[in-house]
Amino acid sequence: MAESFEDTNVYFRKAAKVMGLPDRIQRVLQNPERVVKVEVAVELDSGELGVFTGFRVQHNAARGPFKGGLRYHPTMDEDHCTALASLMTWKTAVVDIPYGGAKGGIDFDPKLHATGEVERITRKFTQKIHEVIGPTVDIPAPDVNTNAQIMAWIMSEYSRLHGFSPGVVTGKPLELHGSEGREEATGLGLTFVTEEALRRQGATIAERTFAIQGFGNVGSNVAKHVAARKGRILAVSDHTGGLRNNDGIDIPALLAHAKQHGGVVKGFPGAQAISGDQVLLEPVDVLIPAALGGVLTKDNAKDIRAKMIIEGANAPTTPDADEVLHAREIVVVPDILANAGGVTCSYFEWVQNIQHFRWELDEVNSRLKKYMQRAFGTIWDLATARKISLRTAAFVVAIGRVGKATVLSGL
Ligand code: NAD
Repeated sequence: MAESFEDTNVYFRKAAKVMGLPDRIQRVLQNPERVVKVEVAVELDSGELGVFTGFRVQHNAARGPFKGGLRYHPTMDEDHCTALASLMTWKTAVVDIPYGGAKGGIDFDPKLHATGEVERITRKFTQKIHEVIGPTVDIPAPDVNTNAQIMAWIMSEYSRLHGFSPGVVTGKPLELHGSEGREEATGLGLTFVTEEALRRQGATIAERTFAIQGFGNVGSNVAKHVAARKGRILAVSDHTGGLRNNDGIDIPALLAHAKQHGGVVKGFPGAQAISGDQVLLEPVDVLIPAALGGVLTKDNAKDIRAKMIIEGANAPTTPDADEVLHAREIVVVPDILANAGGVTCSYFEWVQNIQHFRWELDEVNSRLKKYMQRAFGTIWDLATARKISLRTAAFVVAIGRVGKATVLSGL
């Protein structure tokens, strides 16, 4: 994973320049408000002591409580967390939900630990950060290698210390105050954004071909919804390798295959095996990187053959690559707009929690569509009027909203 705070700030500064934002305001908006680093020590099943480092970076809360995921990954560190926290500030502002931005996590790989160990690590981490999170303060959610079960443990531990508090985390299981639609929301939101971007070019998903990197939560759900709209997905990949079928991969069959084979695409009989990296370079209309940060670089950007890129992952494009893609007139719908469906649905979950009320799936999805379409329209119109990239336009809108809220609350 290659998200760096400096990379995010390159995009920030580009937008700040377009806006003529004074230096001191830039500094206030770029720096995180609070960085929390904690030791998470637990007894492992072997009897040994496991010692990990947990982080929570709270970037900006001018527009509402801090909001952002928790990632369990050995590469988690402060810079990484700060980059992702700052992206959350801009993302929640782009889709105009009343939150700021945060991110956190622990530097370990839960796949290498028994379930009981992951639970103990999660509960210990919650004990260490419970004073700086809460339904009106900072609301974590799942991210890479964390899931609804982990959110349930955090809710349980936090509620033990503070009383019943379902709104302390989102992305919870449906049976424990989660929301209908949350699981698929990022993939569905990406699909709505793709529909809107193609509509501006007079096209539909059914008329276009796609390649998708990653077949986890985001990749598999965007594949499902694109295929349901008759889009032809010619290539997909995950960490086990890539697949290609020039007639279009049968996505329902691939979803069933992945379900039976530990979530992976490898061995699917309905397509030719290709290398994972090749999927990024396939001759398709739309490329959706939905796995890792930093996969589109200055080395491969010149070889991308797609005409449109919809960023499913966070920070999949390095600033160097972004320049090359812009110069080549490849339309890039940036992460802070394209993958904001997940946090938007998290907002709906939180709203239901604090009202102690439940919405039907149709209601959740129709609200999600409205938020995504409205955000896309605002960014597209600004990019067209100012002749800037969609990424710069998204940052301009976000910085404008966060900046105004900061000034209105009084520096
Ligand atoms: P996930 O863990 O469910 O899936 C990740 C996928 O990437 C898996 O299919 C994995 O096999 C694949 N992968 C790993 N290494 C790869 C490689 N080298 N080549 C190709 N594929 C590889 O994670 P996710 O929730 O789908 O998140 C994916 C990205 O989307 C991350 O950047 C995450 O931050 C971002 N994101 C997720 C959400 C969400 O709601 N889940 C919301 C916004 C952004």
